[in-house]
Amino acid sequence: AELLRVENLHVAVEEKEILKGIDLTINTGEIHVVMGTNGAGKSTLANAIMGNPAYTVTEGKIVFDGKDITEDAVNDRAKAGIFMSFQSPISIPGITVENFIRTAKTTITGEQQRALAFKKELKSKMDELSFDSSYAQRYVNDGFSGGERKKNEILQMSILNPKLAMLDETDSGLDVDAVRIVSEGVSRFHNENNAVLIITHHNSILQKLKPDFVHILINGRIVKTGDASLVAEIEKQGYDAYKALV
Ligand code: ADP
Ligand code: MG
Ligand code: MG
Repeated sequence: AELLRVENLHVAVEEKEILKGIDLTINTGEIHVVMGTNGAGKSTLANAIMGNPAYTVTEGKIVFDGKDITEDAVNDRAKAGIFMSFQSPISIPGITVENFIRTAKTTITGEQQRALAFKKELKSKMDELSFDSSYAQRYVNDGFSGGERKKNEILQMSILNPKLAMLDETDSGLDVDAVRIVSEGVSRFHNENNAVLIITHHNSILQKLKPDFVHILINGRIVKTGDASLVAEIEKQGYDAYKALV
């Protein structure tokens, strides 16, 4: 079933047009990859879908789960089941990992999370990610390594259980073990009722994941959509052939 439909999306940041007419449909059960040159607008696309107010939709629309959400606030989109993992997650001194995720889950589901049941769920998801459970009582990302920040993002995703998870360069700057753990975490999360949008430059995050579609985004436009073989092609050849198309 159709989960996300982006139609002729134009997005401006600080008055400058960044996305210049994006069309993208994501069905449940699918994994989509977005690749592209630096500054092409990949993070802008994810932010616009999430509803980050710094990104203004100037034309087109975003339909999620059958509803036009183009004007909806971030919180409403999160409640509807959209999740975004950030390229550089911020630290939140004073708020523990456990409290942060528990509060987010309460807000998103509208249901109080019973302390013991939640602790148990958190512990089991942390174990799956080889994320030491002592981190549940540490402040969010405070002094976390790059790998620990990414595990924390994947942990949030797996507990909030969104319908659409967007991962923005979740693999950048990670060592091979961390990339494998993240890749496995996304693979465990993914099922026929949800969908994943991965922004990446590398093949390695995809070792446990089989993308159904790979989109090349250059200068605010999707210039090519193909299958998983595009990732390896780009890794080998770069973007020159596609730059010529814009
Ligand atoms: P990518 O993720 O493909 O590298 P981005 O979407 O981050 O590209 O950025 C596309 C363009 O939009 C860049 O020129 C960038 O400087 C600009 N941009 C993105 N986000 C912001 C922002 N919050 N404030 C100002 N400019 C931004
Ligand atoms: Mg247009
Ligand atoms: Mg980016």
